[in-house]
Amino acid sequence: MAIPKTEWIWHNGQFVKWDDANVHITTHALHYGSSVFEGLRSYAAKAGPAILGLDPHVQRLFDSCRVLRMDLPYTQDQISSAIIETVLRNGLNACYIRPLAYKGTGTITLDARKAQTEFAIMAFDFGSLMGADGLENGVDVMVSSWRRMAPDTHAGMTKAGGNYVNSGFVTMEANDLGYMEGITLDVNGHVSEGSGENIFAVYRGAIYTPPVGASILLGVNRSYIIALAREMGYEVREETFPREMLYVADELFFTGTAVEVTPIRSVDRIKIGNGSCGPITKRIQDQFFGIINGAIPDTHGWMTLVK
Ligand code: PMP
Repeated sequence: MAIPKTEWIWHNGQFVKWDDANVHITTHALHYGSSVFEGLRSYAAKAGPAILGLDPHVQRLFDSCRVLRMDLPYTQDQISSAIIETVLRNGLNACYIRPLAYKGTGTITLDARKAQTEFAIMAFDFGSLMGADGLENGVDVMVSSWRRMAPDTHAGMTKAGGNYVNSGFVTMEANDLGYMEGITLDVNGHVSEGSGENIFAVYRGAIYTPPVGASILLGVNRSYIIALAREMGYEVREETFPREMLYVADELFFTGTAVEVTPIRSVDRIKIGNGSCGPITKRIQDQFFGIINGAIPDTHGWMTLVK
């Protein structure tokens, strides 16, 4: 999926032309993965573009910076405004937004604090990561032979660039073996998450999702889906569960900015439920997309109109 070029990128406090948003080869993040990023979506609302989860995404960006000890010379409000400006300036409507903080030039040592923190925001058109068919009928996935990193190795709660070496292994393996995605287990062998998604299992009427202690990224959409499912009367349990629960679950689905709410119809070629989108997943999907599309009132204040 190539990145569709837009006109403007916000880079270190000002808008520059797409082709001029460059870095030097000594950029620390290129060598050592010392970057943090976010991925947001804007949706085409009646009144113009509306960003889903602006505040929690910006909050997570600052949390990631704190853990990586990256000083950002901006406030959260300034970054939120710059995100909105980037969508507007490029005349985008429904799009994907990628804020990126990274350690620039300044040192060859591993102490990234000696390099200056740089910041960029790009936004561009982006369809459904797993396709319209995946959203409707579900995707075929595998349990990866790669584990999610152990809690005392990388900082899994952060959206650090270096963490995505692990996600890359998972994705490449799944692609090579003909699956849409891989699910990782954590260091203890419990289910963790997809390479870039959180996972939910519907099992005998209750909904399970791995807890923060299972090396997951705390997804913004994960928290929204937990809230929606509880409001709809379902019991949602954030607890560890084993691999075999995937095979006996009545329904499985992923959540995430890129995949939204995508059903899983098979794991390791074992059919899940009836092999399509399950009824509870469908109800949750309808509620989620209803809020995003404006058909259901956004009582939680999840959408930020950019005009
Ligand atoms: N886990 C990982 C590893 C991810 O990269 C993502 C995407 N940001 C998610 C989960 C889902 O997070 P969110 O709902 O905030 O997009």
